[in-house]
Amino acid sequence: MQPILQVERLQVTFRSDDGEVHPVSGVDFVVHEGETLGIVGESGCGKSVTSLSIMGLLPKGIGRVSGGRIWFQGRELTAMTPKEMQKIRGNEIAMIFQEPMTSLNPVFTVGEQLDEQIRLHLGLSKREARQRSVEMLRTVGIPRAEEIAKEYPHQLSGGMRQRVMIAMAMSCSPKLLIADEPTTALDVTIQAQILDLMRQLKERQGTSIIFITHDLGVVAEMCDRVIVMYAGQVIEEAPVRELFQHPQHPYTRGLIASIPTLDQQKSRLYSIRGTVPHPAKMPAGCRFAPRCDYAQEMCRDNPPLKEVEAGHRCRCWLAEKGGTTDVGRIAAGS
Ligand code: SF4
Ligand code: MG
Repeated sequence: MQPILQVERLQVTFRSDDGEVHPVSGVDFVVHEGETLGIVGESGCGKSVTSLSIMGLLPKGIGRVSGGRIWFQGRELTAMTPKEMQKIRGNEIAMIFQEPMTSLNPVFTVGEQLDEQIRLHLGLSKREARQRSVEMLRTVGIPRAEEIAKEYPHQLSGGMRQRVMIAMAMSCSPKLLIADEPTTALDVTIQAQILDLMRQLKERQGTSIIFITHDLGVVAEMCDRVIVMYAGQVIEEAPVRELFQHPQHPYTRGLIASIPTLDQQKSRLYSIRGTVPHPAKMPAGCRFAPRCDYAQEMCRDNPPLKEVEAGHRCRCWLAEKGGTTDVGRIAAGS
């Protein structure tokens, strides 16, 4: 599989009241053609900032890529002018967000917005564009598509609006779709429908997807590979099955132990003690150390992201190639 996106040692700097902070510091990953990569972590781990960096959408005057490079199909995104980026955005790389109201324009009908997007990128006439808009609305399972096209975003339900966003994102057949918590605001039934829809579109169009979420259940359903982020770094990376069956990092193990299961519903869920460190007060060594039950002397140094199995990397001094780690024994209950 060819890589479609390569993120190399990405560092992002934000100006804040506490001076300069690095919500993303030294993040590496690859997205292959046709695959869905999950990015998991608690809020503030840097997953959304990473995706905004790829899109060239960091808040102007506040955030900037201060180190590393991002490559998309052999072209360096981080070296592009805003104009060049604009051509790629929405066309070759599209994004859907948690709250579609913030990205849909309230003063235009759904159809007008879709038409414009399609005309801009495919150079179609007004009539052809509307035809394609209506087709797209049907594809994402919107009933009475011709009528809905004439409605305004506020006239639609949250689930419908998210479908419209997906239609907008997919209308130009992007090669890469970045979905940032796309179903978090929706109720469970609608969530399942939207996930199903994204899977179908991926299969039909061969789109690669970066799926950003705090929900490991969604990752299990949607993703081929996963990276787990913590405090601006990748702390574990593995194929989805491997991650669930052999998690190595104490943080990943904590996340997995926190997933509710049917028979666990009534008992208390495991939760990881403490909170994510403030970006201005990052621990000097392993960034997870203040919350880690296995922290020891050597953890005063920041561990590297090291391969423990083919395709499985982990940033923890205890993770060892192949063998059972201390973490493994402890997490297994001994
Ligand atoms: Fe815990 Fe040390 Fe591993 Fe960090 S390096 S996760 S503190 S055991
Ligand atoms: Mg976010």
